[in-house]
Amino acid sequence: MDQTCDILIIEDNATSLAILRGILERAGYTCIVAVDGCEGWNQIIERQPRVVVCDWNLPGMDGLEICRKLRETPEVADTFFVMITGRDNEADRVHSLEQGADDYFTKPIDRSTLLARVRVGMRISGSKEELRRAAITDGMTGLFNHDYLNDVIEKELKRSRRYGHRLSLIMLDLDFFKAVNDTYGHLAGNDTLIEASRILREAMRDFDTVGRYGGEEFLIIAPETSLDDAVAIAERIRLGIADTLHVEALRGHVVTASLGVASAEDIRVRSAAGLVDLADRALYKAKHSGRNRVCSAREVVEEDGAIQVENKEVESLRKRVAVLSVQAKDVYMQSISSLLQALEEKDAYTARHSENVAAYCHMIATHLGLSVPLVSTIRNAGLLHDVGKVGIPDRVLLKPSRLTFTEQNVISQVPSISVRILDHLRILESEMHIIRHQREYFDGTGYPDQLAAEQIPIGSRILLAANALDAMTTDRVYRPCRSLAIAIAEMRELSGVQFDPKIVDCVGQLVHEQQSEIEERIRTTSESLNLSACVL
Ligand code: GH3
Ligand code: MG
Ligand code: MG
Ligand code: MG
Repeated sequence: MDQTCDILIIEDNATSLAILRGILERAGYTCIVAVDGCEGWNQIIERQPRVVVCDWNLPGMDGLEICRKLRETPEVADTFFVMITGRDNEADRVHSLEQGADDYFTKPIDRSTLLARVRVGMRISGSKEELRRAAITDGMTGLFNHDYLNDVIEKELKRSRRYGHRLSLIMLDLDFFKAVNDTYGHLAGNDTLIEASRILREAMRDFDTVGRYGGEEFLIIAPETSLDDAVAIAERIRLGIADTLHVEALRGHVVTASLGVASAEDIRVRSAAGLVDLADRALYKAKHSGRNRVCSAREVVEEDGAIQVENKEVESLRKRVAVLSVQAKDVYMQSISSLLQALEEKDAYTARHSENVAAYCHMIATHLGLSVPLVSTIRNAGLLHDVGKVGIPDRVLLKPSRLTFTEQNVISQVPSISVRILDHLRILESEMHIIRHQREYFDGTGYPDQLAAEQIPIGSRILLAANALDAMTTDRVYRPCRSLAIAIAEMRELSGVQFDPKIVDCVGQLVHEQQSEIEERIRTTSESLNLSACVL
């Protein structure tokens, strides 16, 4: 459809037309005109004006016939129709209203009468439009709703069959969403749905239709799109959700989605419902192959019924276990955070430091393009890497001067004490592995296992750099902080010795790209520790 307009004037008399148009345009309406009935009818279909002001006697098709056709054509049946004519008798007036006109007035044209009637027409068509919109919109996300999506699929499938156009569907379902609700609450769940719909809206192209098909299920209707292209779009959406869906209340929990893609070209598709069903089966396949992935209908093979029943049992148990594991990990991280707070009473620096190191770990790991779960593990490791400090006597931990050799020896036990504390939490196994090796140096001279280069877990190499970055840029009682530039320079000098050169480069780039964010962190740290900031 072309751009819509406010009013269509259909009038064959040039003078009348000029007067009508002049009055309406001066009042601020956008108008289009037609000078015979057939042209007028075409304009109604093409431009779908909100109000039609139509002369009765017209060449081609008269005003009554236009009005009758209008009421019979669903796409435009709601249009407000005003009849104008030179005939001034009650019978004609009644007749035109019976044929479907909303209003009627006689020539000569009176400006205020015309404007009053058009104003009514605009108001009525406006509220009809609002009602129509409300009826097809999902209240929570503002996306199209289930019924509207089904209508569009039906229409697009017909169009694709008639003209041989392509048509694909992408069905998306959030993974383990019940666990999100159960752990963080229904409201956090709602925020997650709203955030997911934002990502979908951003991913859609002009001619796509995106809507909420069910609770945590979304559908994208992509006309003129092949199966492979739709798979590529789905993959982008999957990454968008896993990497950028951020809801404060989820406290860093990563939400993922599974997607199924089907296309109308598939010989198994015989109806709109069949197309939806095929996309749904591709989605089911994505769930079964591990979730957080895209499957296309090509991967859907007809399966034996008995096997599917068994799968369902496994699936339902798996979901319940997922709820428990998300909850468990959250509870662990929460209790450990409160443990860190206890540590804060003992040593404010450590608590603040852990938070900063976690943030730097997250930045570096993300910048290196590591997978979302790994980034999250490395971040946790950053938060937990110093819990072992609870075991260090205050006189060593808070000593205002340089440490003696023996004292340094005690401090060097922090990683292994941390691991000992966390030892029973199998759920944090990957974190512990990173923490254990956080003091290994790139050239193999670190501890505890003298690992070198790639032998050192990537998370530990990142943690070492994040740790150094925060330590160097924070004032300590026994030495003042370095500026960010000097800290980077010092890290560069130790590149290939203590630090992985790849990570030093990455930190250099991060400091360049996210300088203000990092400086802000350094500044608030100094403030909270009552020390003077030095970032330049
Ligand atoms: P799977 O990975 O297999 O999709 O697991 P799941 O937990 O996401 O799937 P399931 O279909 O079992 O659960 C969907 C959940 O979505 C259940 C329901 O509580 C939740 N949900 C549906 N609509 C809404 C909503 O409007 N708001 C919130 N917060 N939750 C919703
Ligand atoms: Mg006429
Ligand atoms: Mg679902
Ligand atoms: Mg789900």
